[in-house]
Amino acid sequence: MPELPEVETTVRGLARFLEGERITRVQLHRRDLRRPFPADLVQVMTGATVSALSRRAKYGLLHLDRGATMIFHLGMSGRWRIDPEVPDTHDHLLLETASHRFALCDPRRFGSVDLVSTGALEQWPQFAALGPEPLGPGLSVSHLSAALKGKSQAIKLCLLDQRIVAGLGNIYVCEALWRAGIRPTKPAGKVTRPQLARLVPAIVAVLEASIRDGGSTLRDYARPDGELGYFASSFDVYGRDGEPCRRNDGGTVQRIVQGGRSTWYCPVCQK
Ligand SMILES: [Zn+2]
Repeated sequence: MPELPEVETTVRGLARFLEGERITRVQLHRRDLRRPFPADLVQVMTGATVSALSRRAKYGLLHLDRGATMIFHLGMSGRWRIDPEVPDTHDHLLLETASHRFALCDPRRFGSVDLVSTGALEQWPQFAALGPEPLGPGLSVSHLSAALKGKSQAIKLCLLDQRIVAGLGNIYVCEALWRAGIRPTKPAGKVTRPQLARLVPAIVAVLEASIRDGGSTLRDYARPDGELGYFASSFDVYGRDGEPCRRNDGGTVQRIVQGGRSTWYCPVCQK
């Protein structure tokens, strides 16, 4: 499932080919993904120039010169294919510029495409309640300290709450808590200030390492299949139950379930 680093990598990859380019053709191969494509998508995008691309949480944004922004979410299985040589039956949306073709391929169709007025992006319902970006200036020790104050819910579940931090997924929360030495089950309000001071840079470091890995995948984007592939990172705790902790502290990585999802942690160094 595409997480924030994959979306960031995708946005950067698309930006190299789309920024400043005019969209010459838009094709829809079905009428919906998770929800219907906007009725005016083809009309608004055809002939528009892409002025910039950006990301908010796990959404990619194509800002058009017509005061509109196309927002895409990759859902469970979405990806953009650049200059695909062979059509895929799951290419649902096709964009063309003078020199490239871009296909939004989403076999499970949990993704979405929306068109929002650029000036009203912050009020878009999916964005209105989002917390700060984890890679932006809004994620600070004082923000977390205020947001977690008095909360008895486990710190791991609070970090997955998009209202507290936008766009963090299961993998990166597990990894960041390991780096910061915080027990995922600890009540959020009881996480100490020194722990929060380790957590903020841990979140940034885990995401940036993943984005760098993705960047290296992107460099060979021009593989014959022309895909912006996902990357396999080597994780410190995620998926490593039963294996020794990478801190060599004698701990064995444990898997537990929190909020219906797996958590991996080391009972020795995460307190
Ligand atoms: Zn450990």
